[in-house]
This record gives sequence, C-alpha cells and structure tokens, in this order.
Amino acid sequence: MRGLRKRCPRCGERDTFLTWFHARALCPECGLRWEKEEGGFLGAMMINYTVALGGWLILLVVVLTATVPDVPVVPLLLASVVVLVGLPLWFYPRAKMTWAAVEFMVLRSQPDYQAPLRRDPRSRDLE
Ligand SMILES: [Zn+2]
Repeated sequence: MRGLRKRCPRCGERDTFLTWFHARALCPECGLRWEKEEGGFLGAMMINYTVALGGWLILLVVVLTATVPDVPVVPLLLASVVVLVGLPLWFYPRAKMTWAAVEFMVLRSQPDYQAPLRRDPRSRDLE
C-alpha cells in the first residue's frame, strides 16, 4: 500500500521522487536503495502496463455495454488514447514504488536482513 502511495516501502517517507519521472536513488529517511540492480524496474513497467490495459478494458466494456449496437467509434478511440497514454503517465511513480515494495518484501524475508538504524534527519540536507 505504501508503494501505491509513492512512499518508501520500509519507512513510509513521502519524499521519494525528485521529479514526476525521476526517483531518488535512496530513501532520504532510512537509506533503502529502491532499484537493487540495473534494469531492476522492469517489474514496474509490467505493473504499469497491466494497470493501463486494465483501465482501458474497463472503459471498453463500459462503453460497449452502454452503446451497442451504436458504438461511438471516434469518441471511443479518443478516450482509449487518453486512457492508454494518460493512465501510465499518472501511475508511473506509483508503479515504480510498488515494485520497490515488492522487492523490499522479498529482501525483508531474507534470513540475514537487518533493519537499519534511524538516520539523523539533518543529514538529508547534505545528500
Ligand atoms: Zn525509507
């Protein structure tokens, strides 16, 4: 749930992104590295694709159910473009942090995992 709210999966920190598309490398509060390895966010892309496709299928089913046999093709196409472009853009940081949360849950299940010590909040300004 923290990932869906763009928060750090370990500590719940809100300040996880520098811009809409650029996540911080580490959590400024607990120091958790969100991308464990190069290309580690392929799972986030899969989540984002699945959400976009799910949103579009809901739109398609609702419109077709309400309008068959007189389907408004052009408005449906325009709405499809809006959903298939806008939804992934809006959901992008949430997908990334959701995938980081999945990786964190796997990491946390390792027998040698240890929660870090609380960092000094003043060190955030130095990073
Ligand atoms: Zn954190």
